Amino acid sequence: MANTLGIVKPDAVRRKLVGRIVERIERAGLILRGMKVMKLTREQAEKFYAVHEGKPFFKSLVEYMTSGPIVVMVIGGHGSIERWRELMGVTDPAKAKYNTIRREFGTSIEKNVVHGSDCLETARREVGFFFREDEVLPKEI
Ligand code: UDP
Ligand code: MG
Repeated sequence: MANTLGIVKPDAVRRKLVGRIVERIERAGLILRGMKVMKLTREQAEKFYAVHEGKPFFKSLVEYMTSGPIVVMVIGGHGSIERWRELMGVTDPAKAKYNTIRREFGTSIEKNVVHGSDCLETARREVGFFFREDEVLPKEI
């Protein structure tokens, strides 16, 4: 029952899609264990996406992710890592399955509306990047 990190990216917050995205999480039976609204600094965005440093899309990705407020979420529940990725759809909205968040709301491979950790190790690191331990609801609650 590991937690995963979800982000509603700046384009989606700007387009007021937060409620519809959270609704999908709730409907899937996943559990919100932490949530906050914030605006990333350049340094934070570069650090968060450090794994992509040097790739052709890196600079633009950092610009995009710092372009406005985001919503960061700790998502729990059975199989949360895989199930949140499934709800999101693959990176490129044009290739994502029907009914996924990225397919429904994404406008380009960059502006794909949401983020989700890709495996257990990443999930631990990414949740810790944004949340202190006392900001995440324990599993018993
Ligand atoms: N991205 C991009 N161009 C690409 C690949 C990725 O702009 O060719 C952006 C996109 O916003 C994506 C993020 O970089 O969500 C991180 O890329 P990753 O390959 O980790 O995709 P994800 O795990 O988000 O599906
Ligand atoms: Mg990724």
